[in-house]
Amino acid sequence: MLYKHVKYDSLITKITNKDLLFIGDYTLDPYQNCEFGCKYCDSSLDETIYIKTNAVQLLEEEIGKIEKGTIIVGSVHDPYQEIEKECRITRNLLGIIKEHDFPCHILTKSNLILRDIDILSKISKCLVTVSITTLDENTCNIFEENVPSSKERLQVVEKLSESGIRTGLAIMPILPFIVEGELEKIVEDTSKHKADYVLHKHLELKGDQKTIFLKVLEKFNPDLLDKYEKLYKDSYMPNQEYSLKIKNILEKLCVEYNLKNRI
Ligand code: SF4
Repeated sequence: MLYKHVKYDSLITKITNKDLLFIGDYTLDPYQNCEFGCKYCDSSLDETIYIKTNAVQLLEEEIGKIEKGTIIVGSVHDPYQEIEKECRITRNLLGIIKEHDFPCHILTKSNLILRDIDILSKISKCLVTVSITTLDENTCNIFEENVPSSKERLQVVEKLSESGIRTGLAIMPILPFIVEGELEKIVEDTSKHKADYVLHKHLELKGDQKTIFLKVLEKFNPDLLDKYEKLYKDSYMPNQEYSLKIKNILEKLCVEYNLKNRI
């Protein structure tokens, strides 16, 4: 992994097409690319992590010039990847968000977020979505080997919720023909760990990311290759019939386990 310290021209991006899943008005990413290296994610295609060294200064300049709205922290690249332990850029940015009383929504797969509970609990409208793909450790080790285990991530959900921070879980991405059999268990565990909602997002397969993912899938279970070919025949997204089936299953499970299925 190569780290590069880079000064950027701007930090906050305004969302023009409303994000119906994560609900936000702006995005910011403290780092570009992600060292967690999940095999289904295009943030890990480039092994250079760009550290936005002037992010704090940029946010101080930009936040006073924008209308109040929810800032999504880590919209593309995990804001709590390993380098954050040392750089603490995400932590400092959250401090500014708190001072300016902006709502924020943090997306992460990392338990490092627990370090910042002191700040998160002082942000008046703070939302955290933790994502997992499976509860099965072997599957985790293949597709997301560098990320804290799903068990640890569920504990993060519980600790944040117990600290009074509204927290939900995203099954993200849905790994077709791998995760279906454990959807109920995931929702049940999410409920036990005191989450407020369960979201889901489908696996997108395009370009180099598709090539890398299919190679890993072949090693994991070669029988799935044909099924994926059919499911993704016409698009980088799974076909509508499949998407609708998953949506319906999760809607029913959320009702059963008393969880919201949206923010
Ligand atoms: S943690 Fe998130 S951003 Fe990082 S590689 Fe995995 S899916 Fe991508």
